[in-house]
Amino acid sequence: MIPRSHPRAASLHIREKLVNGYRKGLVVEEGLLAHGRGEMFDYIIGEKTSKASYDAIKAAAHMFLLAKHPVISVNGNFAALCPKEVVQLARVTGAKIEVNLFYSSEKRKAAIASTLKKNGADQILGLDKRFSQKIPRLDSARRIVDERGIFIADVVLVPLEDGDRTIALKKFGKRVITFDLNPMSRTARTADITIVDNVTRGMQLLINMCKKMKRSRLDRKFKFDNKKNLNQSILVIKNNLWRMTHA
Ligand code: ATP
Ligand code: MG
Repeated sequence: MIPRSHPRAASLHIREKLVNGYRKGLVVEEGLLAHGRGEMFDYIIGEKTSKASYDAIKAAAHMFLLAKHPVISVNGNFAALCPKEVVQLARVTGAKIEVNLFYSSEKRKAAIASTLKKNGADQILGLDKRFSQKIPRLDSARRIVDERGIFIADVVLVPLEDGDRTIALKKFGKRVITFDLNPMSRTARTADITIVDNVTRGMQLLINMCKKMKRSRLDRKFKFDNKKNLNQSILVIKNNLWRMTHA
């Protein structure tokens, strides 16, 4: 057990969730390494949600609630870290849940689906091959999507995603929302809205924001400048690095 008083208790608990996900067959070795990259950025952003990230969350809630066919794309890391939140966000926004993996395997898809079901998910797309479709400009397994989900979606949430897939989704005409702790990654720079925050903090904030905004009138002309927002996150990193090295 990690004592609550430990200075890095939050990040160690997140790590524990991911390792449990690995042991249950949800996460692959590469996912553990990708998490390490995220942890490094979380360390520098101070393990808290910045003002820029709140702004991006607000924009994401807007885009989600105005979407006709929103889809939440779930990979192993996301399922290990936020299974409850995935189901809650789908309920609040009416989004579909689709399992979509970089390193695809039927066994892992089934393990992820079972975790989501245990957390209350009803319908999970991406499992039944009869509904498989291909998105253009991507290699073999990674291009397979569900024709009832990502294939026809207008807005897709793809957290912790690789740049190639994000670029392919954009070229395919999707509006993309992502969570990515690295504001310089290709995914962060390609998405329409990048929430530079740990999914373990940001997902609950996004759910709360959607709940709140559902009760008010949505502005269809709402504009969001992702590049400007990313630059604000880069500034947070620069300032924190300066503080850490001059303390
Ligand atoms: P890209 O392919 O977009 O250039 P990359 O190759 O550097 O990015 P990937 O492994 O493809 O990295 O994607 C995983 C991304 O997810 C990384 O940018 C990493 O910082 C981020 N990440 C990892 N864990 C988390 C987390 N818990 N919350 C938010 N982001 C995370
Ligand atoms: Mg990558």
